[in-house]
Amino acid sequence: MQKLANLLTRVEGQGYKAYQRLQGDFQFDGFRLFIDHVQGDPFAESSRCRIVLATQLTALPDHLFNNPIRRIAIEDYLGRRFAAAIDATVEGNRGSGRSGDFEIANYGQQVLDRSTVSIDSSRLEVRFQIGLPADNRRIDAGQARAMLFEELPAVVESALIRIDRDLDTAERHVNCIEDQHFLRAQLETRNLIAFIADGSNLARQSGVDDRPLQNAIRIKVPDSIAIEMPLKHHPPVTGVAFPVGINLIVGGGFHGKSTLLRAIEQGVYDHIPGDGRELVVSESSCFKLHAEDGRAISGVDIRPFIQNLPDARDCSFFTTTNASGSSSQAASIVEALSAGVHTLLIDEDTSASNFLIRDQRMQSLVPKDKEPITPLSQRICQLRDQYAISVVMVMGGSGDYFSLADRVVMMDSYQPVDMTQKAHELAQSDVIAESDIAEILQRSARIPIINCLSATGSSGKPKIKAFGTRLLQFGQEEVPLQALDQLVDTAQLLSIGYLIEKYHQDNSLQETDMVVGLGRVLAQLQQRGFDTITPYPMGKLALPRLQELVAVVNRMRLLKLEPVKI
Ligand code: ADP
Ligand code: MG
Repeated sequence: MQKLANLLTRVEGQGYKAYQRLQGDFQFDGFRLFIDHVQGDPFAESSRCRIVLATQLTALPDHLFNNPIRRIAIEDYLGRRFAAAIDATVEGNRGSGRSGDFEIANYGQQVLDRSTVSIDSSRLEVRFQIGLPADNRRIDAGQARAMLFEELPAVVESALIRIDRDLDTAERHVNCIEDQHFLRAQLETRNLIAFIADGSNLARQSGVDDRPLQNAIRIKVPDSIAIEMPLKHHPPVTGVAFPVGINLIVGGGFHGKSTLLRAIEQGVYDHIPGDGRELVVSESSCFKLHAEDGRAISGVDIRPFIQNLPDARDCSFFTTTNASGSSSQAASIVEALSAGVHTLLIDEDTSASNFLIRDQRMQSLVPKDKEPITPLSQRICQLRDQYAISVVMVMGGSGDYFSLADRVVMMDSYQPVDMTQKAHELAQSDVIAESDIAEILQRSARIPIINCLSATGSSGKPKIKAFGTRLLQFGQEEVPLQALDQLVDTAQLLSIGYLIEKYHQDNSLQETDMVVGLGRVLAQLQQRGFDTITPYPMGKLALPRLQELVAVVNRMRLLKLEPVKI
C-alpha cells in the first residue's frame, strides 16, 4: 500500500500517461491488488485490476463450492455482491470518460460460468476495472487515493470479508442453482424437452428488460396435465412438461404464447432466485430459430426445404450475402442440426410464413414444380422420426400442424390448457404427404478455410469487441446477431469473439469439420480456463454454448468453405 501511495505522490499532477507506473501488485490489509493494465487515456477501456485474498477470510465453508455447479453458483453470488457493494459505495459518473468509475461484469438474470470471480479452498480472486481519475488530461491523485485506499477496501470488506452473517442467502443461492441442474438432468430420462413448474412467473418487464414483471399472473397448471418432479434441495414440484416430439402452443393473440416459448428457450440457463423462471428448464441443446432476411449463408445444403430455384442456383451448397426469410430459416435449421441441436423452438411471430405452412388452396393454385419451398409442415415428421428432432412451435394462425402434433397446449389468459385431443379430432381428415429427405440430410462435413477468419483489423492489430448481444466486431467485419435470442450476455459474445480467433490460430483444426473444430476450441476453454483464450487476464468473459458459437461463425461474411469433395 505504501509503495502504491508513494507512486501516486510521484505522478501527482503529471500527464495521464504517467499512470502507467502504477502497473504492478500491491499488498493491502487482507488482500493483494494487481493492476494488470493501465488505460492510455481517460476515455479508453478502464484499467484492468484484480484482487486476491485468502478464501478463509470470507468464512465461506467448502461445501459451497465442492463441485463445479456449486462453485459457479457461489462465484456468481460473490460477483453480484461485489457489484452491489460498488453501487453502494461509489457515486457514478465522476470525471471525464470512464474515469472515477469501478466496473465489473454486468450480472443479469442468468447464472453463467464467468471469468470474473474464481474461488477454491485457499484463494479468491475478483476481476474488475478502475477508471483512473483525471483532471482534464492530468492525473487526479487525490481522487485516485480515495478510490484505491478508501473505496476499494470498503467494497472488499462489505462484499467479501466475513460474510458468515449472509451464509443462509449464499446457501440458498447455491442450492437453487443446483436444483435447476438436477431438474434439467431428469428431462432426458423422462423423455421430456421442457418443464415449467407451477407458480413460475414467465412474464418480463419489457422486451429490453429481462427482470420479472411485477404482479404478473403466475402459471397455474391444471391437475389433469400436471406432473411431479423431485428436486435435490427441496420437496418435489409439480408443473407442465413438453414431451419429446412435436409440440404446439396455440391460443389467441396476447394470451402469453410467445412469453411461454421465451421462458423455454431461456431454460437452458440457470436463473437467480427470485427470477420467476428458477424452475423452468429445457433440454440443453434446444435452439430458437428466426427468419433473418439479409443474413449471410455459406455453403449450406438447404435442399430439404428449398430446391429448384428459378435462377438454377445450387441449393446443395447454398451461398448468399443476402438471404430471404425462408432461405435463412432453412439454412438455420440445417446448421442447427449439424451443431447437435435436438430441439427446435419456433415462433410464428419471427418466422417466414411460407417456410412454416402452405395451405391446400395455395397448393392448388401454384403447382408444385413452381414452388421451390417445401414448408416445414411437410418435413417435421421426418425430422422427428428419422433424426429424433423435437419441436416446440407457437402457432396461433393456422391449424396445418394439428394432425402432426404430439401435444397441443393452448395458452388461455396466460394459463396452459391441454388441447391435444380436440386438435386431433379437428385434423382427422388432413394427411400431409412428405417426400423423403433421408438422402439429403446426411450431415456432410463443412470445412472452413480458417485463414479467412482473422480478427486482424485495418490497424494490423486484432480487434474483437462485443456490443451488447446483438453485434460482434471481429477484425473488419461486423456480424449482426439479432436472431440469437439465447445469447444472453455480452460477456458470452466477447468470449465467442476470442474463441473464433483461437480457432483461426489453431492449425491442427484445418481440414476439420467446422462444428467439430469449434467444439474442440470450446472444450479446451472449459478444461483450461478463460485466460487461455485471451492475450491477458480479462474479467468480462462468460461461457457461451456451442450452438451460439457455431451460429455466430455461420453468420460471418468472412466465412469461406472448402468446396465439397464428392
Ligand atoms: P402472444 O404471443 O400469445 O400474442 P405474448 O406472450 O406476447 O402473447 O404476451 C402478450 C403480453 O402479455 C406481453 O406484453 C406479455 O409481457 C404479457 N404477459 C404474458 N404473460 C403474462 C402473465 N403471466 N402475466 C401478465 N402479463 C403477461
Ligand atoms: Mg406471440
